[in-house]
Amino acid sequence: MAEEKRDYYEVLGVTKDSSIDAIKKAYRALALKYHPDRNPNNKEAEEKFKEITEAYEVLSDPEKRKIYDQYGHAGFGPQGFDWTQDFSRVQMDFSDIFEGIFGDFFSDVFGRAGYGRSTATRSRQTRGSDIEYRMYISLREAAIGVEKHINISRYDECPVCKGAGSRSGKKERDACPVCQGKGQVVRNQGFFTIAQTCPRCRGEGTVISDPCANCRGTGRVRTNMHRIVVKVPAGIEHGSSLRLKGEGDAGPYGGSRGNLYITVFIEKDPFFERINSDVICEVPITSTQAVLGDEINVPTLTGKVKMRVPPGTQNGNILRLRNQGMPKINGLGKGDQLVRIKVVVPVRLSRQERTLYQQLKDMENPDNFPDIKKFRTDL
Ligand SMILES: [Zn+2]
Ligand SMILES: [Zn+2]
Repeated sequence: MAEEKRDYYEVLGVTKDSSIDAIKKAYRALALKYHPDRNPNNKEAEEKFKEITEAYEVLSDPEKRKIYDQYGHAGFGPQGFDWTQDFSRVQMDFSDIFEGIFGDFFSDVFGRAGYGRSTATRSRQTRGSDIEYRMYISLREAAIGVEKHINISRYDECPVCKGAGSRSGKKERDACPVCQGKGQVVRNQGFFTIAQTCPRCRGEGTVISDPCANCRGTGRVRTNMHRIVVKVPAGIEHGSSLRLKGEGDAGPYGGSRGNLYITVFIEKDPFFERINSDVICEVPITSTQAVLGDEINVPTLTGKVKMRVPPGTQNGNILRLRNQGMPKINGLGKGDQLVRIKVVVPVRLSRQERTLYQQLKDMENPDNFPDIKKFRTDL
């Protein structure tokens, strides 16, 4: 024996003289709380939802409410209220009931304004997506700035319908014939009716009755090789992003364009290493150049310069070439080029060279070699 049915007024928390609006409001609040979509795998909430929906079904119908007021649950026969047959009307206005409940819920989740509200004139224009592109440039290009031509794939406004999406070119949309503009359809699922996003209009409530064949009614088409000239400023940092406003995807139905973001990666240079606005490189010189000093050619980011190597230059010494580095980000001048000296010795000697080196060796005074002198005092 099933336990005694609760009073419908009690179930909805209303009184016998409550207005239809008050009943509807009470049901909305309870339905929001116990809706199976919000209480997955909760048997208790499911039962509760079934109970409040049954109460609402009876009390929202003046005929049934009168019967219930007079005879109570017995008014609906020995089996009580017949769910399966009489639930149809609740289904009918289910989406009305949930409008403003799940409507707002969905718009929160999907960022769609006005979801579930029926209007045939609502604008469906949205801004197009941003596009991200990775660009690789050389350090030398980064030093002087470079203009790069790239090809991107993006959405452009459909040239046939000019973004309207309709064959006729008219921008007004028609109410969706499937959901009558509500954006939702109701579906039976066991005991429940579930309000679902309309599959025809995807919840928008409106459709294009005569879609443009070129863009299939979306108002935009994909362009695969759209050529764009990108000006990369001198001194750009590795991994920084350039924004090309309005060069992203066109929005559907003539919506505005998103942006194109170009992330610039600077390839490793075989010669230079960047340290903020300075660059450092290593230049080999001969042992005699190191001893006697010399003037040598040194490659720079933009060409080459002559550099004086002072006499007595040690291996590993760093010489500075002013203003030969990267342009500074604030536009105020340039960094420096640091030249790390690598003293190299010959691997093959002529007879004469050998003789001369031998003579030099015999003359060597360790006191004239600061590092050797320091090394010996350390011992
Ligand atoms: Zn079109
Ligand atoms: Zn629809």
